[in-house]
Amino acid sequence: MFKPAMAGIAGTLTNNLRIVLVETSHSGNIGAVARAMKNMGLQQLYLVRPNSFPDEVSYARSSGATDILDYARVVDSLEEAIGDATLVFGTSARGRKVPWPVMPPAEATAKAVEAAATAPVALVFGRENSGLTNDELQRCHYHIHIPSNPDYSSLNLAMAVQVIAYEVRMRFLEAQDLETHEKQSGMLDSLTGPGDPGWDVAAATVNEVEGLFEHLERTLERIEFHRRDNPRQLMTRLRRLFQRARLDQMEVNILRGVLSAVEKSAGGTIEQASDAEKKPQDQDNV
Ligand code: SAH
Repeated sequence: MFKPAMAGIAGTLTNNLRIVLVETSHSGNIGAVARAMKNMGLQQLYLVRPNSFPDEVSYARSSGATDILDYARVVDSLEEAIGDATLVFGTSARGRKVPWPVMPPAEATAKAVEAAATAPVALVFGRENSGLTNDELQRCHYHIHIPSNPDYSSLNLAMAVQVIAYEVRMRFLEAQDLETHEKQSGMLDSLTGPGDPGWDVAAATVNEVEGLFEHLERTLERIEFHRRDNPRQLMTRLRRLFQRARLDQMEVNILRGVLSAVEKSAGGTIEQASDAEKKPQDQDNV
């Protein structure tokens, strides 16, 4: 049962805020990232297909932050690293063709810390030589750009993690102060949407929203609104729309219920109704 009112800032950095490194080539960078994370109080490190890990170089460069490396999770895909997260930030040194919401580090980390009080949040970093692909960046709700020198904008991977981890720590300390102040003064918490402590329904996870996207694409094909051979970036734009909205779990269920009804009236076969596809009225007491 979702209990947002019970959420608090304690445990945010250690339990819910993860750093994800995608296809890191130099294991020394992984060690330096572990050190930067431990300095700033972060613990969860996910490595997507690292070139070499674990190895001596990563341990040597971690300067004693070996616990972060010992507990690092090595996974085969970005999906595995972010599937259970409710909010994902991708970091990038440069803009991309379909613009995505970009946040400066201070604003992004404030949002990350707030959301991590109740559910997992991921901060994703790319390859040393080529960064994150467009597809990977489109899996993220927001992009973070460190406002570096435009003529020389790309930081070393571990240094980029250090900058963002420092910002996370600052926002965490500020949030701790605010929480104490709010408790003392009985002020109402600010509330903007799913993922904020105090929202009535849990924010949807990446996996749940991905299930909605697949269902949406299937339905749009069935009613001949969308053609995979002529996609016109339709799904990218719809993805951007829904990521911006940040759906909660009940909203995902309602939308999937609508899609199932559309499929039914279009005369298509209805996919096996999973839990996520139950009719919205069945979800009233979620
Ligand atoms: N040559 C690559 C940059 C790789 S730097 C490119 O052109 O995209 C390795 C990683 O560090 C990036 O994928 C990103 O996660 C992070 N990074 C480096 N500089 C950054 C910046 N200015 N803002 C945000 N992230 C940055």
